[in-house]
Amino acid sequence: MTALSGKDRIMAAWKGERPDRGLFNVDIGPHYSPKMNKTTNDYFGNIDTAIEIQVKSVADFTSDIITVPQNMFGWFPYKQLYRFKTRTDEMGDGKIKTMEQVEDMEAVPVSEIEGLKLLSRSINKIAELAPKHASRVAVFGPMIDSPRMVGLEDWIAKTIEEPEFIHKLMRLTTDAATARAKEIIQNTPVNIVVVADTFASISNISPKIYKEFVFPYEMEMFSALQKAAGGKKLVGLHICGFVDPIMEEIAKLPIDWWELDGPSSLQKSFEATKGKMMVRGNVGGEIFSEGSKDQIYQAVKKCYETAAGDPKYVCSTGCQIPLNAPLDQVRHFIDAALQYGVRQ
Ligand SMILES: [Zn+2]
Repeated sequence: MTALSGKDRIMAAWKGERPDRGLFNVDIGPHYSPKMNKTTNDYFGNIDTAIEIQVKSVADFTSDIITVPQNMFGWFPYKQLYRFKTRTDEMGDGKIKTMEQVEDMEAVPVSEIEGLKLLSRSINKIAELAPKHASRVAVFGPMIDSPRMVGLEDWIAKTIEEPEFIHKLMRLTTDAATARAKEIIQNTPVNIVVVADTFASISNISPKIYKEFVFPYEMEMFSALQKAAGGKKLVGLHICGFVDPIMEEIAKLPIDWWELDGPSSLQKSFEATKGKMMVRGNVGGEIFSEGSKDQIYQAVKKCYETAAGDPKYVCSTGCQIPLNAPLDQVRHFIDAALQYGVRQ
């Protein structure tokens, strides 16, 4: 039997089959720069350099998945994503405070967003240069856009003081984020499209706020994205931080892929999702920069034990691996994943 590729494994597990070993993901593009005589600034400063480094990194450091490099904040400044209908003043983070402003805002059509063209190019290059890896891209969701516009503290205060303002803004940002993700789903070869709703966790907002102001919009967005994906791509959600109190809701979302961060319970995520979706996580990123080899092994072992052979589990950090993490630590993670992710 020929060896399965990372992409084969991810696709097989998604369909409920059991690949030859436990799945895992390391994402170390910038960390790998010194190996190619480049700096992290070279990586973040030039997308072609980043792509080259990213592709080399997965050839050297086993991973079933390759993340598509992009300059998230550089390519998607808020003023490129939204504009006023009748005013000429510029958008900026934390600037939207009144209903009048929200009512005067509209999303920039996807065909006019330069960042999406750059992202499509990056996705195509990755698909061409690393065809054996499942490619994964993260895009901004409504719970990045809307708190960014208002400022998170004011956003939270307004859920009580002016709930209709938040609903109006979530309407706008959900439609905009859905259109952007749809564009990537329909017109690029990427395998996994993850919507990053970074601020939606209970580390930032209450479960009540999530249920009332976020969940209905995510439900709508993911339903539309599933329709666009037509069963050919995995549609996923990434929330940073602690989400245990809202897991029952997340499990109801029509998603294929859920990225669970270190502070949340992997055990509870399996109980909530019951094999309905793939779960990626949730080794704490800090262990890569501060932990010992033994701690890394123990963390990986614990995750695979919790997964109890579930083929839909992907061992990984929940969020990014800290930039100061030495590559030796990453090697330990991979060795541990190969050791504990064996199939009986
Ligand atoms: Zn995160």
